[in-house]
Amino acid sequence: MFGGSANAKTNLKNLTFGEQSSLIKKLGEPAFRARQISKWLYVKRCCDIEKMTNLSKSLRDKLSEKYCADGLVTVEKMKSEDRVIKYIFGLSDGLYAVETVYIPEEKRGTVCLSTQVGCRFACLFCATGRQGFKRNLTLGEILNQIVEVQNDPEAGTVTHVVIMGMGEPLDNFDVVVEALTIMNSKDGFGIGKRRITLSTVGLAPEIRRLGELDLDVNLAVSLHSADDEIRSRLLSVNKKYPVSELMKACREFPLKPQRKITMEIVLFDGVNDSPTDAKKLIKALHGVRAKVNLIRLNRVESCSLIPSPADKMADFKERLLTARIPVTIRKSRGGDIRAACGQLGKTPPTPVKIP
Ligand code: SAH
Repeated sequence: MFGGSANAKTNLKNLTFGEQSSLIKKLGEPAFRARQISKWLYVKRCCDIEKMTNLSKSLRDKLSEKYCADGLVTVEKMKSEDRVIKYIFGLSDGLYAVETVYIPEEKRGTVCLSTQVGCRFACLFCATGRQGFKRNLTLGEILNQIVEVQNDPEAGTVTHVVIMGMGEPLDNFDVVVEALTIMNSKDGFGIGKRRITLSTVGLAPEIRRLGELDLDVNLAVSLHSADDEIRSRLLSVNKKYPVSELMKACREFPLKPQRKITMEIVLFDGVNDSPTDAKKLIKALHGVRAKVNLIRLNRVESCSLIPSPADKMADFKERLLTARIPVTIRKSRGGDIRAACGQLGKTPPTPVKIP
């Protein structure tokens, strides 16, 4: 089971599919009840066992003795000028809050999920890292972010998920893998594998473990620089897993035909945006099935790094394209409500009290 709750009851959303089935068996109920329950939890996004009306009253009563299906408490909701919605959700321990972002586009609706409160990796340019690490999110807390966004009439349909919010997903490995399974399953949220992207700071051993599971979701790697000295300054994790080791794990990562790993590169003025930096990147990506996503730096407090100017970014892009590396430039949205990449976690700075 993945995580408990301050509410003495266990949230059914903290149970894996297998655990939900075992529970139903233990209660002496027929096996199909487990599927009925998962339908309520993820398809109908029901947060109250009492409302699961195709379960017998006696089963609902039995379940309610020890279990609940609670959602998250919305502490604050903000809308940006460009229609991005940021939610601050209170967690059941009453101590912490987590941020989730909904990004509407013409033909898709993307939810950006958090997997930890805070983060251990303290990347120089990321607000979440400055918070320090508080705790892992439970399976239910990760899934409930989708439930709450999808139950908000102001948000559109969730068609895509990016695991790029607060925290390092591969540092909460087992829980995140279960969450991915439920997101993708027809008995879960039914979101296609190609519509789910997990972004990692570059934990080489966990990238390998993920590859062995053959989950087939999109992988994005926060590379930022192919030069060990520069990357170590930006991301201290590089001292543990330097570029060569990270690229080896990426080269060996199993990919279906036509699929590529996304290498995320935030360009910083005068740090990693020169023609030499582009050249080093092209060399490091040799033999890696990769596309590059160039990202404009979103400013975070007490970080003196400056975004690379548009002309340097364009030049960097051209150099990669000339080397036949596909490149996209990430549109930054939600900056006015601090919902853009790297800005999550500044609010609230201290533990919140849930009303
Ligand atoms: N821990 C994971 C996921 C969270 S960060 C990771 O490191 O990938 C999600 C993405 O936002 C990463 O590509 C990260 O490098 C990028 N990012 C972090 N801070 C940023 C900032 N200030 N401006 C732009 N992108 C940022």
